[in-house]
Amino acid sequence: MSTGFFTPLKTKLGAGLCVKAFVLCLLGFAITACKNTVSIEPLQQQQTLKVITRIGPTTYYQDRHGPTGFEYMLALEFANELGMELEIISVDNLEDIFAALRNNQADIAAAGLSITDERKKSFRFSTPYQNSTPQLIYRSNIDQPKTIDDINNGKLLVVANSSHAEKLASLKKLHPELTWYETSKLDTGDLLEMLELGEIDYTIVDSNEFKVHRAYYRSARVAFDIAAPESIAWIMRKDVNQKLFDSMQKFLKSSKKNGMLAHLNERFFGPAEEVKQIGSRTFYKKMERRLPKYLPMIQKIADEYDMDWRLLAAISYRESHWKPRAKSPTGVRGMMMLTQITAKEMGVTNRLDAEQSLRGGAQYFKKIYKRVASTIEEPDRTWFALASYNVGRGHVEDARQITDFFGDNPNKWVDVKKHLPLLQRKAWYAYTKHGYARGAEPVRYVQHIRHYYDLLSWTYPTEQERLAAKATENLPVELEFEQASIDTNLLAPSPQLSNVL
Ligand code: GLU
Repeated sequence: MSTGFFTPLKTKLGAGLCVKAFVLCLLGFAITACKNTVSIEPLQQQQTLKVITRIGPTTYYQDRHGPTGFEYMLALEFANELGMELEIISVDNLEDIFAALRNNQADIAAAGLSITDERKKSFRFSTPYQNSTPQLIYRSNIDQPKTIDDINNGKLLVVANSSHAEKLASLKKLHPELTWYETSKLDTGDLLEMLELGEIDYTIVDSNEFKVHRAYYRSARVAFDIAAPESIAWIMRKDVNQKLFDSMQKFLKSSKKNGMLAHLNERFFGPAEEVKQIGSRTFYKKMERRLPKYLPMIQKIADEYDMDWRLLAAISYRESHWKPRAKSPTGVRGMMMLTQITAKEMGVTNRLDAEQSLRGGAQYFKKIYKRVASTIEEPDRTWFALASYNVGRGHVEDARQITDFFGDNPNKWVDVKKHLPLLQRKAWYAYTKHGYARGAEPVRYVQHIRHYYDLLSWTYPTEQERLAAKATENLPVELEFEQASIDTNLLAPSPQLSNVL
């Protein structure tokens, strides 16, 4: 039975990635993280729980506070419950996951994996902790396929060894014409990016993963469900230590009961990461109703840290919409949505106290701002500081190196923001020092804050700006502001941003 494997495409992709990797190595990029070393000792009286996973926004990645991701957090809870250290082994393809399990190099695979008949032959599954439906995704500028037979005109690429490849192989029995490509070199994010760029026409993605990814790929659309919902579970070897297997089952069952799974699902798959109201109208409403109460406080604190208060106001709006009691499922709190760690570092004792939160946030921002490379000048300096505030300085530095590699200017935000989203692509992040990051997020974060900052500046110009505006435009000041605020409604995202939103 043919798997639909198509060599020319694979060769092309493989070659492309090798060249990129080679050049990046020459450029001195540190090769890290992606394939961590895998210890091969057999499990004995172990202190460490070895969990193998794949890097991605739904599994495991680093943000500005360290490692995170649904699978990571769940595995960490389990290790804690066992009183063991957690060792995460991250690989970049499913084949390596199964090989590591077979070779006794990992105890558990926790990687959003579906229970399938093929896999059941060799492995043991935990009780499912999620359901997900594999969906055919197509690019919006082509006709929406309605049935499996409609996709033969285009290029369908899926991850090799995935449940999707297995499903296609079984569909082939009923639809002999069905052809597709498989790759073990790329992951879901890469495939969606290729789809966006028109390099492929279709791919298959689990519905829960697509929910998280879709904000970044504007033209990716669901055509139809390729199969019934599949159960997602952790996987172990068949000859696994029975005690460990039983503990895992007990842990997952109690996580369902005590709401921990629901909490993690909400945190990583919920709407938290959706693009938030960039709309000027909402902003203006809140500016009229909420800002006046906090304005003197924001101005006072901005003064203390030698900041433009409109920037502090824009950041706090982006963080919490000026709600001092704001909470997010990720555990950040308050007006500036500080984490517990940052709050502690900045001497904040009560994150829900508006003044403390604003002061902590301003101080933290200033600290990051001072560390921005000295080669970067204003106003870019502020945008880089904001990006680091959002995603972490290390990732921004990685993106600056990639920018340099492309011959663009690593000191210019307009150039670096083009390349930040590459940190989501394995072909790039694998060769950076700090690895995977949701690179499109700081781009949006900075874009939103700049937008709010502009709106605030139009409404609250400094005396200097007022005079300058008056001098250049021969218009009464009030009228000028009215025009400016109408214009802002027409603001379109930059072309780079529209690629990733
Ligand atoms: N649920 C899919 C599987 O088990 C996820 C694989 C993927 O998206 O790469 O294979």
